[in-house]
Amino acid sequence: MDTRAAARSRGFGASVFSEMSRLAARHGAVNLGQGFPDFAGPDFVKEAAKGAIDADLNQYAISHGTPRLRAAIAATWARDYGREIDPDAEVTVTSGATETVFDAVQAFLNPGDELIAFEPFYDSYGPSVTLAGGTLRPVTLHPPDWSFDPDELEAVFTPRTRVLLLNTPHNPTGKVFSRSELEVVARLCREHRVLAVTDEVYDRIVFDGAVHVSLATLPDMWERTLTINSTGKTFSMTGWKIGYAVGPAPLQAALRAVHQFVTFATSTPFQEAMATAMEVAPGLGYYDRLKAEYAARRALLRAALEDNGLPTLAIAGSYFLMADIAALGFPDDVAFCRYLTTEVGVAAIPPSAFYADPARAPLLARFCFAKREETLHAAAERLACLRGGVDAMGTQPRR
Ligand code: PMP
Ligand code: GLN
Repeated sequence: MDTRAAARSRGFGASVFSEMSRLAARHGAVNLGQGFPDFAGPDFVKEAAKGAIDADLNQYAISHGTPRLRAAIAATWARDYGREIDPDAEVTVTSGATETVFDAVQAFLNPGDELIAFEPFYDSYGPSVTLAGGTLRPVTLHPPDWSFDPDELEAVFTPRTRVLLLNTPHNPTGKVFSRSELEVVARLCREHRVLAVTDEVYDRIVFDGAVHVSLATLPDMWERTLTINSTGKTFSMTGWKIGYAVGPAPLQAALRAVHQFVTFATSTPFQEAMATAMEVAPGLGYYDRLKAEYAARRALLRAALEDNGLPTLAIAGSYFLMADIAALGFPDDVAFCRYLTTEVGVAAIPPSAFYADPARAPLLARFCFAKREETLHAAAERLACLRGGVDAMGTQPRR
């Protein structure tokens, strides 16, 4: 008997998030690694879920989503983007953005086809492409502002390119793609007749007046774009795994064909709760409050890092800060993040996990600020031992 995994998934290993959360738990570290809030989500959303369970909304939902949640998503697009969408044909609910990206990639890539993504890219993109038998073609974002060279982007398009997968606001860099950058992307997608799939899970978490622009809203992009989102970040309920995709009917049909055989349907009471959340959030001023609260958390974490010898790069969105670790003498970001977790007691994520070739990653570490004030203060206290450099601690970095 051959108990090995099939060749296509053999190289996957454990995700960097599971690995770092496990290491953090084992060493009692303050976990600023894996991106999830350590504070409670809003009461009005929790109450809605309890109400849905008590109302016996507990059986399979329609495969592509409950009518109420799809209507709430359509209403959100009408309000925010001025676009009337058909909730029956142009919205699909899924079990999180991870599933939606996976479904979309299986739906559109034939074996041998190519998918373009800006690097660093979210860790599930590579395996999703591999399982479809495709190839991911990375285009580098250059620090410190994470700009890209339009010529480099253009050069990576080939006759085999089928999909461009774009994440904005971007994990792990915090970049929010500007309208003019998106115009370059849109032009190339149109010229090369390539589909766009966008991952916009942090669309509500933007700072300093930055504006999130959805690629689908640019001229002639609706017909070729599938826009993916997840309620997990917006409503601080990452464990509920309610995601969705908005886009034209033909793209939805392809997506739904895969979705029905991956999860078939998504948890009914949590869909109902998210329908309530989206219906009432604007009237409660919830989205503005979310932004303001995250701006305060960002300021706390930034001070905790910078006061202790970890300069941060500017971000315009997401709930992550990248710190420059080049001066600290570690050979790579993995060595630093392990050291920080086990010796200092603060967990962070090595961004090299978001690179096709980890050797290309700059020396940075990603810290999550979706955390309570106490958590960020506790991290700050522990980071204080880094002041004056790691050598001052008497513990040598592991080279
Ligand atoms: N895309 C990005 C860029 C993310 O950061 C995350 C999770 N943090 C996901 C997708 C996955 O979202 P979900 O939990 O809804 O699957
Ligand atoms: N997206 C989250 C992050 O970037 C983690 C989600 C997960 O653990 N799969 O940290």
